[in-house]
Amino acid sequence: MLFQEGKKQLDLLTEIKSSKKKLNSLQELKKVALQCQRCSLRQGCTQVVFGTGNSNSPLMFVGEGPGAVEDKQGLPFVGKAGQLFNKILAAAKIEREDVYISNVVKCRPPNNRNPKLKEMKSCLWFLAQEIKLLNPTIIVPLGSVAVKGLLDPEGKITRMRGRWIEKAGYYFLPTFHPAALLRNESWKKPVWHDFLKIKKAYQRYWELKEQGKF
Ligand code: SF4
Repeated sequence: MLFQEGKKQLDLLTEIKSSKKKLNSLQELKKVALQCQRCSLRQGCTQVVFGTGNSNSPLMFVGEGPGAVEDKQGLPFVGKAGQLFNKILAAAKIEREDVYISNVVKCRPPNNRNPKLKEMKSCLWFLAQEIKLLNPTIIVPLGSVAVKGLLDPEGKITRMRGRWIEKAGYYFLPTFHPAALLRNESWKKPVWHDFLKIKKAYQRYWELKEQGKF
């Protein structure tokens, strides 16, 4: 789970554990994010798009960054890809309002290009704080950028999707980003299989929670 740039390394989990800044809620973190100017992405976007959803959810989805519609509305996953994401969640009988959704970078990269490593590093602190405050059990990296940001800078979504990875008490299950499904329909089937696994784990979480084991 390393970002590497020359000799510098940044570890998301170390960032989560070592952060000294005391923030008590996602709302407080959001206020800080909305003022952020840490990287040049902020100059090219309309607004910072912070994560949204149930702040007590055990299930978190992480995409790459806001697109044009998200940038305009200030909400993640509301464009075409977001609508497809909603359909997949509904088919898996997971309520969108019961989960938490965020992105690796909170500002839209120009022309929807992938965020650069430097930009991801700048924004990592926010994602680390979100994870720390939310403390989800299951984290689903959506697409290649999220896999690189959360799990492995050399990671490939085609190689890593559909497999559970346990790190530091979190259970990660990477799958394709819904935007990729709009370009490549043949990925819908594997994504559906991944969502069945996510759903099963999510149900299991609630069963164990009811038994007082979580
Ligand atoms: S992308 Fe992240 S680090 Fe860069 S300005 Fe936006 S909120 Fe700040």
